[in-house]
Amino acid sequence: MKKIITIFTIFTLVFLAGCAKNEDSMPEIGVAIYKYDDTYISTVKNSLINAAEGKAELLLNDGKGDQATQNDQIDLLIEKGVDVLLVNVVDVGASQTIVNKAKTADIPIIFFNREPSEAVLKSYDKARFIGTNAKDAGVIQGEIIAESWKDGRYDKNKDGVMQYVMFKGEPDNPEAVARTEWSIKRANELGVKTEQLGLQVANWDTELANRAMEAWITKFGDKIEFVVANNDGMAQGAISALQAANYNKGDENKFIPVVGVDATDAAKELITKKYMTGTVVQDGEEMGKMLFKAASNLIEGKDIIEGTDYSYDSTGVAVRIPYKPYTGM
Ligand code: CA
Repeated sequence: MKKIITIFTIFTLVFLAGCAKNEDSMPEIGVAIYKYDDTYISTVKNSLINAAEGKAELLLNDGKGDQATQNDQIDLLIEKGVDVLLVNVVDVGASQTIVNKAKTADIPIIFFNREPSEAVLKSYDKARFIGTNAKDAGVIQGEIIAESWKDGRYDKNKDGVMQYVMFKGEPDNPEAVARTEWSIKRANELGVKTEQLGLQVANWDTELANRAMEAWITKFGDKIEFVVANNDGMAQGAISALQAANYNKGDENKFIPVVGVDATDAAKELITKKYMTGTVVQDGEEMGKMLFKAASNLIEGKDIIEGTDYSYDSTGVAVRIPYKPYTGM
């Protein structure tokens, strides 16, 4: 009899514990981030934390830039039975393996920021991607260029053509290729005639861009009418070289417009001081909000875009968060 009571008591306790868990437990979102030490990704993470506050439990993991570490973290999240996975993959080449695991466990998965191939996403009906569009950053740069060019004051030789130099991040990096192409293409579409004086691959690096800019100033001097850089780091390097040659120090008649991408703190400060013309912001705040909305939708069995202003791109499985211009105005 005593034994029966004990078993009954244990059963009751387990049952009650089960009820309690169901009543006040929040959905669990497993988040695997490629590395915390990245300015844009920290903004996304903080925005996600704010959005989830009191609504879902986030299980956050720092992959530290190592795919093996991230694989272990994802295995643990799956084992724990999270309701949805948000994955900022370290190495996109590992995406298929991750999708297979999520599929086996029947857990919906949203990749973000670093994009798996369309085929990988389409191998599981509960896999999606939220990112940006590489072309967008270039297009917005082109719009900033056209806007600052239109009153003609930077056309120093008055030939109606914008003589420019371009800093490219890397030779084959898709972001670098798209920004290099679309910044100029969009400016051209908006009526700016352009002539490229030089193009330098500077590996996203401030110092390399600085040295290349010095060489260009020596070679072309006042013939340079615009500086276009794939990122703010290189734009910053170019500005240091310009300032060393007495340009871009506050005198409007000794100014060569420079545009970058990223809206780093350094770039924003240069823009505020009017030493730099503009940059392009990847909206990490919005990315975090959309990730939470998408994850909540999946948990409720809805489509990720339900109740949002977003639609899928042509792949039908990816959503793009737009970039925004930043010109300090
Ligand atoms: Ca000109």
